[in-house]
Amino acid sequence: MNTVGRPTAPNQVQTKPATLTGGRGLLQNEALIFEGDGWGKTGVDLPEPKTDGSDLGDLVRKDPIGLPGLSEPETMRHYVRLSQKNHAIDLAIYPLGSCTMKHNPRLNEKMARLPGFSDIHPLQPISTVQGALELMDTLAHWLKTLTGMPAVALSPKAGAHGELCGLMAIRAAHEASGQHEKRRKVLVPTSAHGTNPATAAFVGYSVVEVAQTEDGRVDVADLAAKLGDDVAAIMVTNPNTCGLFERDILEISRLTHEAGAYFYCDGANFNAIVGRVRPGDLGVDAMHINLHKTFSTPHGGGGPGAGPVVLSEALAPFAPAPWVVHDDGGYRLIEREEDEAEQAFGRLCAFQGQMGMYTRALSYMMSHGADGLRQVAEDAVLNANYIKARLGDLMSAAFPDGPCMHEALFDDEWLKGTDITTLDFAKAMIDEGFHPMTMYFPLVVHGAMLIEPTETESKAELDRFIEAMRALAEAAKAGDVDRFKGAPFHAPLKRLDETRAARSPVLRWTAPEGSNKAA
Ligand SMILES: *Cc1c(COP(=O)(O)O)cnc(C)c1O
Repeated sequence: MNTVGRPTAPNQVQTKPATLTGGRGLLQNEALIFEGDGWGKTGVDLPEPKTDGSDLGDLVRKDPIGLPGLSEPETMRHYVRLSQKNHAIDLAIYPLGSCTMKHNPRLNEKMARLPGFSDIHPLQPISTVQGALELMDTLAHWLKTLTGMPAVALSPKAGAHGELCGLMAIRAAHEASGQHEKRRKVLVPTSAHGTNPATAAFVGYSVVEVAQTEDGRVDVADLAAKLGDDVAAIMVTNPNTCGLFERDILEISRLTHEAGAYFYCDGANFNAIVGRVRPGDLGVDAMHINLHKTFSTPHGGGGPGAGPVVLSEALAPFAPAPWVVHDDGGYRLIEREEDEAEQAFGRLCAFQGQMGMYTRALSYMMSHGADGLRQVAEDAVLNANYIKARLGDLMSAAFPDGPCMHEALFDDEWLKGTDITTLDFAKAMIDEGFHPMTMYFPLVVHGAMLIEPTETESKAELDRFIEAMRALAEAAKAGDVDRFKGAPFHAPLKRLDETRAARSPVLRWTAPEGSNKAA
């Protein structure tokens, strides 16, 4: 049974008269806040300041400040209207593969807002932040236990920052053993996330690509041929960005270590194996964990994220400061070389990292417990396989043989001959009320559609999504090209030039010529 409301034919939609105001169905269209008529008024009633400004000398403002004045209801409405234009995980599934957008339990938010965690300052006396340090120490304990690794650097603020941390530790280790000069290469598989080669290049290495096999895994023979005493590290994602477990991972780490290189694992997909596999048992030397992916804390829109890096025995001495230790005197931070951090490669941020993210992640871990975290991985994998199985007859799975891990990957083979592209299909999903999946990534799959449901979607939600996808796939196959080419019909804005928006963003509003609205 189709649970999705029968879609209206797009030509029908197009012939409907445009509204007079640009608003639609209780959603109002409005100009930018700077383009309104709030100039010269104010929403607050403050007494006239008593000073005559003479204390400030020449620094007294001569022009109007250039901010629109709004009343409280106007302000609230402005921001609520803006929020209606946005999609959110609290509205529907966010099926972006490789990004792991899962529900963030409200309990996490409540914990993160406890004053003892949220109202503290990084320079407060250590005796007054013992609870916060204990939380960091407990989080570190969970991360080390779940990964089977002896050390963790908590401070990196994103996955990419974690990669930087890991590669800097690797470089420091090669420097310490006098091998840095000859080990100038980092091997990265073709399916890697773009941050992997970018990080390696940023740290000064040259990037060498490793081929992929027909079944979407690292080509071990190619890797073996490229390993040598000029290689500093390999960077492998496991499960990889095709949503597949690297079956030869033990052989990969054995070959890497035999060549004197380190194994950096991109742990962005740790949510697929947490509680089931310990990366330490696979021979990993360094791995970042995106707390904002695996452990539920929110992300998107620029963060804040957190990308702690677990380190092997060999790399632990080079971990960046600071870290938490405790003894009879309580908890304290190791911050400087003279505080037992002789080999630390330095530090990655001014203070201790993202306290709010640490709190949310630990809240998520403790409310699930060890058994619950294992179930997270199992349910995430089950949900992805359900999607793969239920769409596999209409859409072409990129790697049809065998199950996937936490994400289902399709290519655009099934759209051949329809004149509809992956992008068109994604835009039509918006009309049906669904945020598109990740498109055109990984690059090794033509017209890739990467769908990650995560464990937080129920069967009912998955069925809603699947029914919409099936209805669209059938429309595509039936030659209903207009529905796709013109999509989205129902979004406030149509197809944007996303490349231009990313490359030359307009971040500042400037007053139109001749206007007195000084910005
Ligand atoms: C998300 C992701 C990253 C980068 O993590 P950020 O937190 O976005 O910096 C790296 N690798 C993979 C596979 C990812 O999915």
